[in-house]
Amino acid sequence: MNLRKRTALLLWSLTAGAILVAPGAWSVLAQDARPNDPPTEDAPYKPKTKRELQRQLTKLQFDVTQNEGTEPAFKNRYWNNKKKGAYNCVVCDRELFTSNTKYKSGTGWPSFYAPYKSANVAYRVDNKFFYKRIEVHCSRCEAHLGHVFDDGPKPSGKRYCMNSAAMKFIETRATTKKPTTAEKSE
Ligand SMILES: [Zn+2]
Repeated sequence: MNLRKRTALLLWSLTAGAILVAPGAWSVLAQDARPNDPPTEDAPYKPKTKRELQRQLTKLQFDVTQNEGTEPAFKNRYWNNKKKGAYNCVVCDRELFTSNTKYKSGTGWPSFYAPYKSANVAYRVDNKFFYKRIEVHCSRCEAHLGHVFDDGPKPSGKRYCMNSAAMKFIETRATTKKPTTAEKSE
């Protein structure tokens, strides 16, 4: 085989190899392209390992969300937060509550009369206390959030008594749009 033929054969095999490998390589690239995007509502949730959670969360956040701990009243991040925004799950980022249903309960914990969407939280009976309570957790990752009681304000009559450590607050940015130069001159 002369040099020209050998070069042609080499080029052909490289091209064929690239075409064969390309679809797989592309899907790997596509998966890795945006690793930090929050999961969408429909994305299947892959439960995190205990080690991953310990790396991601503070000791308090881990204790509250994984061991159903309770943070101290009045000594937590959001009990008196009056800013407009969303309260998302600290583990999986699901939107749990918003400032629209937050109210002053006087308990020292952030309190809401309704979740953002009823499907975003789930419940189970908690018999650990001396009376029966309803435990509230994230419906996607099962992080413990707090409890719900029947002494809340209208319209629901519910009091979602949450732990700040189970949530991260995302403030709503002002959406007032300043007129552009073009709009001003019209
Ligand atoms: Zn979650």
